[in-house]
Amino acid sequence: MVDLTLVIALPVIMVLFVVLFILLPRYGPHYTSRLKCPRCKKQFNYHWVPGATLTSLRYGNRRRLKCPYCGQEAIYNIATTRVSKSKTS
Ligand SMILES: [Zn+2]
Repeated sequence: MVDLTLVIALPVIMVLFVVLFILLPRYGPHYTSRLKCPRCKKQFNYHWVPGATLTSLRYGNRRRLKCPYCGQEAIYNIATTRVSKSKTS
């Protein structure tokens, strides 16, 4: 006897997983933040997706990032530095 609940629930969970972690980050709303490194003062763009990962739920609008120029790690507020809403595919 096959457990029908599991047979129905498993594909549903898999579809939800795919939508949340693959489709939304790729095709959902994307934002670009212009961040400024506190060490070398150079500006760089950071593309992010609102609420797509567990990390973003935990840290809110703050991201720990490495500067692409000098490699300095710093915590940036990506909400206040948001410059554009763009949909890229
Ligand atoms: Zn830097």
